[in-house]
Amino acid sequence: MSANTPTMPTVFFGHGSPMIALQTNAVTAAWRRIAQRMPKPRAILCISAHWCTHGTAVTAMAKPRTIHDFGAFPKALFDMQYPAPGSPQLAQRIRELLAPVAVTLDSSWGLDHGAWSVLLKAYPDADVPVVQLSMDANQPAAYHFELGRKLSALRDEGVLIVGTGNVVHNLGAMDWSNTAPPFDWAMRFNDTVRQAIVDNTPAKLCNYEACGRDAQLSIPSPDHYWPLLYVLGARRDDDAVRFEVDHIEHGSLSMMTVSFGIAATADTAAAA
Ligand code: ZN
Repeated sequence: MSANTPTMPTVFFGHGSPMIALQTNAVTAAWRRIAQRMPKPRAILCISAHWCTHGTAVTAMAKPRTIHDFGAFPKALFDMQYPAPGSPQLAQRIRELLAPVAVTLDSSWGLDHGAWSVLLKAYPDADVPVVQLSMDANQPAAYHFELGRKLSALRDEGVLIVGTGNVVHNLGAMDWSNTAPPFDWAMRFNDTVRQAIVDNTPAKLCNYEACGRDAQLSIPSPDHYWPLLYVLGARRDDDAVRFEVDHIEHGSLSMMTVSFGIAATADTAAAA
């Protein structure tokens, strides 16, 4: 990379319901502001809750399709497209970085809604190439954190590493009313995660099961939690930490969105 390639931040987005793609609200405004406060990335690497595989794969097609991987939602959501290009070159680079982990170059996935529902708000022009990395469903939390560490080098190559999931994600417990207060266990676990991020103690977050019942209820399956571990792996000790969004919707869905490496001075630049 050239000497003037800026080091990119890394961001975890709490994506919530796919319906957010059709909305404009305080969360989507925060997501847009995140993009506006950093240099335009050369490419985006996205680790989404919605792509778990046996082994690890990376999308390697030039034109990833928009995947509508959800059930009973309005037609307007199925009509949405996010036509960002892919980057076969970045896919290859990721394969090198993750060696000796075997990474399959995938030509069939594309961009799932965990990726595009966030990116269409942050980068509405869809002009930044996007690559998705799958998560190996057979591996423990610490493994996902470790892959994030290996990927951290991409930050110096103009690549924005994005995790998209939810810190607390219990669909079975959800209360669909818009005014539902957070469950106590959801609030406690969300606070535990926030504090561990502030304290920079990722081992605690890899070992989340030690948090007992709060963690069990907040993470009934780990798919929405693991993307955070990739971002924490890519985090550097001197990164500024910002909780861009931090509230719980429908009782059991944490919208926590946290960025690492966006300096406070970026606010003035974005406002100018
Ligand atoms: Zn999701």
